[in-house]
Amino acid sequence: MTESLTKPSADAPVAIVAIDGPAGSGKSSVSRAAAERLGFGFLDTGAAYRALAWHALEHGSDTSDATAVLEVFGDFDYAISLDPADRWVRVGGTDVTAAIREPRVTDAVSGVARVPAVRQAVNDLFRRLVASAGLRGVVVEGRDITTVVFPDAPVRILLTAAPEVRAARRSTELGGHDAAAVAAALHKRDAADSTVVDFLTAAPGVQVVDSTHLDLDQTVDAVLNVVDSTMGARDGR
Ligand code: C5P
Repeated sequence: MTESLTKPSADAPVAIVAIDGPAGSGKSSVSRAAAERLGFGFLDTGAAYRALAWHALEHGSDTSDATAVLEVFGDFDYAISLDPADRWVRVGGTDVTAAIREPRVTDAVSGVARVPAVRQAVNDLFRRLVASAGLRGVVVEGRDITTVVFPDAPVRILLTAAPEVRAARRSTELGGHDAAAVAAALHKRDAADSTVVDFLTAAPGVQVVDSTHLDLDQTVDAVLNVVDSTMGARDGR
């Protein structure tokens, strides 16, 4: 794997808000909006796994074969924006921001995400990206951020929602087509992903925000309340 780090290291420690949750929990939209309100950067870690799945598919590789995945990982040149107002993802200079959301990539992503050497390398990349971004804080979202990537983050949140609500949200995002098929694909991906990391139960010290009965703004407010009470308590406020 190669990568592009553009900004110099900051001296002050970066405040990390770690947010985990399953597909359709609203994690991505909520994390981005929270980052904007806090004036923090935003790192979508799922984009790295999606970009690697896209890269493997470009090479015609079998994403369920760990050896084939590791082979294409060797020349995986990855770059991502941490600016919540200007999101982009690039592989080898190609903008893949939209392409990594295509269903063929979503269907392939769990295969690449289950390879331990890939996880270890991208987790190190996430820590370097955050440390070198020159930002005072970053909201980092994914599946194992509160437990593996940044287990010592001052704010750690598990964002949940009832399975039927998550499926309905994902179906709306995808234009409302074939809700039953969308729900089946989402639950299949959750099942595959949860054999690798547990993102359905909160680890000790992780605060749960349940968005089942909340809209986007209310969920962002709930997350910011946790940030404020946790960081405020830490800062003696
Ligand atoms: O969050 P998103 O749905 O874009 O994540 C895409 C995929 O990346 C997940 O289905 C999972 O396989 C993988 N992933 C992961 N660990 C993370 C973030 C995402 O394994 N921290």
